[in-house]
Amino acid sequence: MRKIPIKVRLTAWYSVVLALGMTALGVLALAGMKHSIRVTVDEQLMERMAAVRKAIGTAEDAAAVRAALRGNLAPESTEELVQVADENEQWVFQSSWLKTRRLLAEGRAQEVERKRHPDFWVVLEGKPFRGMSATVEAGGHRYSVQLAQNIDDFEEAMARFRRMLLMVIPGLLLAAAGAGYWISRRALAPVDAITRAAQEISGRNLSARLEVPDSGDELARLAETLNAMLARIDLALKRIAQFTADASHELRTPVALMRTRAELALRRPRTAQENQETIEQLHGEAVRTSELVEKLMLLARADSGARLMRSEAVELVGLAQEVVAQTSVLAESAELELEAELGAGPVWVAGDARFLRQLLVILIDNAVKYTPAPGKITVGLVVEDGAARISVTDTGIGMEVEELELVFERFYRADKARSRETGGAGLGLSIGRWIAEGHGGTLTAESRLGAGSVFTVRLPVRSQVRS
Ligand code: ADP
Repeated sequence: MRKIPIKVRLTAWYSVVLALGMTALGVLALAGMKHSIRVTVDEQLMERMAAVRKAIGTAEDAAAVRAALRGNLAPESTEELVQVADENEQWVFQSSWLKTRRLLAEGRAQEVERKRHPDFWVVLEGKPFRGMSATVEAGGHRYSVQLAQNIDDFEEAMARFRRMLLMVIPGLLLAAAGAGYWISRRALAPVDAITRAAQEISGRNLSARLEVPDSGDELARLAETLNAMLARIDLALKRIAQFTADASHELRTPVALMRTRAELALRRPRTAQENQETIEQLHGEAVRTSELVEKLMLLARADSGARLMRSEAVELVGLAQEVVAQTSVLAESAELELEAELGAGPVWVAGDARFLRQLLVILIDNAVKYTPAPGKITVGLVVEDGAARISVTDTGIGMEVEELELVFERFYRADKARSRETGGAGLGLSIGRWIAEGHGGTLTAESRLGAGSVFTVRLPVRSQVRS
């Protein structure tokens, strides 16, 4: 089942809240109206009671009371009623309409008078009345007086108001819900547009971008954020495509070379000596190719974001000595001098010995490759500003200033023809920088064309050493 759309939910919530608000308002208005009617009627009743008091205040007996009241009240009225009884519960005066009815039974009258507000509601012949009861003393007698007033008009006004509310509130609600729906639809229209545009973007047209509404609001920010994300994905995919293309290109050359050598060897019978040579050449190519594949795999794994590096206590002086000893054969065969200036040590860093060794091998290997004999390679290690600084200095061919950053890019070779001979694919330094940065450090280069280069690794030193 599809979920209910936001605009419908918004409208529904809005309508419910509005309905509750309007109902509360209606109830309050009705209650207020009823209260004010009651206050008005009660004031009129009190005025009439005061008039009655005044009229009979000086009467000596029941006959005088009757005469006074007849002069003051309208006994024929069916709207304003009055009944007066003496202390013997004998009727002294009654509105003519009341002759056949009771406004209030005597017992009830006393009960009403004991209340703080001696008022009452009564329905006579289906007509609503509001009444008031009081005891008035005159000429040594106590008279029980009840006044009542027809409130038909007020009730009618209330009913009309109630009917109006019942008609107006649903109408208003309907109109407000319609307007609410229209507003939320308008407000959310850009979201639909973004959704539709996003649906059209696939792996093939990742360079397409969403239209950013110039409202500068949340939706504009959403579109901008999605666009920035698309740009990042686009770049990442382009890099992957580039990497795959470069990698296949790099692999094609050695594989083609091996194939040609093998085909040549197979074309006619060869001496054992010749076969031996071919196998050695093929072996050499195979070794270089498998090294290249190793590097490619390492970079691919690095790109996948997997945590490949461990963080252990590594002692750098020992590690550098080991690598220098291991690579000295290389230097010797290239007729180069390899010197280590490592200081007394120990220098501890947190990291992965395997990768740090690989980093040093890459730098020394490059120095050997790019230094013609006779030359010298120096591996140095000092600690300064809380960082271990390992440098590999050579007296080789050097690099142009513009190349100092480029050489750290994948597959970059300063001089393609020259590097091809030395067998590099342009991956060593990018792996080296990835290792240095993975240790929270840096790898930088300085060089002068024709004079030599210095590659420097800086790694943060561990202050606390766990053994
Ligand atoms: P490669 O496998 O080609 O050596 P690298 O990434 O290790 O790849 O190096 C990239 C390029 O940087 C090399 O092709 C070379 O031109 C240049 N380079 C690296 N080290 C040195 C050095 N010590 N002296 C001069 N050039 C160097």
